[in-house]
Amino acid sequence: MSSESPVYAVISQGCAANFGEGERIARALSAGHPNCHVVFRLPDVQDAAKSTPSLHASGVQDAPDAIYLNVCTVKGNAGALKLLRTAFETYPDVPLFITGCAPKDFREEALKVTDKVVFTSLEEIPASAGMTKQAGNDNGAATGNTLRESPFVGIVNIEEGCLDACAFCSTHLVKGRLKSYAPEGIVEQVRGLVADGCLEIQLTGQDCACYGFDTGTNLAALTQRILVHVPGNYRLRLGMGNPRHMIQYADALLDCFRDERVYKFVHVPVQSGSDRVLRAMNRRHTAEDFRQIARMFNTEFRRFTLSTDIIVGFPGETDDDFAETMRLLEETRPTVCNITRFVARPGTPAARMEQDAGLRIPESVKHERSAILFDAFQKIAQANNALWTGDTCDVVVEKPGHRAGTTIARNEAYRPVALAGDIPAGTRLKARITGAEPFALIGERLP
Ligand code: SF4
Repeated sequence: MSSESPVYAVISQGCAANFGEGERIARALSAGHPNCHVVFRLPDVQDAAKSTPSLHASGVQDAPDAIYLNVCTVKGNAGALKLLRTAFETYPDVPLFITGCAPKDFREEALKVTDKVVFTSLEEIPASAGMTKQAGNDNGAATGNTLRESPFVGIVNIEEGCLDACAFCSTHLVKGRLKSYAPEGIVEQVRGLVADGCLEIQLTGQDCACYGFDTGTNLAALTQRILVHVPGNYRLRLGMGNPRHMIQYADALLDCFRDERVYKFVHVPVQSGSDRVLRAMNRRHTAEDFRQIARMFNTEFRRFTLSTDIIVGFPGETDDDFAETMRLLEETRPTVCNITRFVARPGTPAARMEQDAGLRIPESVKHERSAILFDAFQKIAQANNALWTGDTCDVVVEKPGHRAGTTIARNEAYRPVALAGDIPAGTRLKARITGAEPFALIGERLP
């Protein structure tokens, strides 16, 4: 590649907030070097890459001039290290930069893969590349630009950091305390993205529910502001938020969800159904707070998608605690549930608890509990999805399905709808739901 028109590869992992960050990195690179070409994928040149899906589809035939790995370590370092190894083995001579959630222990392990790797951040990128900082709003993102992974999905980071210090989490050690971006800048970004053809806008952050608590506003006020000031045929997807914050402005938030431009989808991580475990996790919410939110949305809307996260095997979790988690799952009936077996993150209070043999849960018990929970959850998700059978939905096509000749679209509750045929992303259509699986609805395209 000519250095006059360098190619930068930006590969993100993890949550929507990290993908949003990756797109902001791409824009910072692009703003600093207008002739550059940014790709979000790398060529499939080596068998080692085959087990790393994000290194597959090629956007460029030659080696890039630099690779930015925007890593996620929330479930441990293994996934991020694998990505680093694959990138390094595939392109040993290409400069490698690491951004994202890279705590100290990950950095130490990454340097063992290659000591040439450079740790950087969005803020440092223009300076490190000898570029000028991009003019834009205080979120560091230009408005109305097209540099993103999907032409139809715009990711807008509304805040960074959080107001908590959960005992298992190393993200807050990296991201720090809440910093909310100004609503005016966020509205401008959404306006620009909608004008640029985005049909879905994802508002993301480490904990969207505490958005604005440092600046005297909140997520409901921000959402209303966007809905009022940005007309158009798009839908907002609100990002993950902790229950203890959401509950403070729940009625106003509910009001936002009545607008058809808001996906009937909420991601509220509960982590455990046991208040005793939640206290040990330093979560500062109760199981009842989560129940209240689930009740609120499930009562208000005929069809709603409740998404949550649960950790099993946290140090000291007893059979009774686990039974309470099972009970909470059955009562609140989420359709999406990310179940994680506890893994100690170095430097966290939970890692110290895990050192205590009296508290540590054996791996076999963690496996057993996660299997029981997953089995129960799958049945709930299947039953929730089966409720849609016979309904007609307006859907937007998202991507090709895993099975050849199929397409995945999203309905108003952000449920994936599997359709027959190869239908271009961004197509809007009506579909009748003809069947259900635990992780998708099955639909047929209506004329
Ligand atoms: S809210 Fe808790 S889990 Fe989420 S980033 Fe903050 S400390 Fe980590």
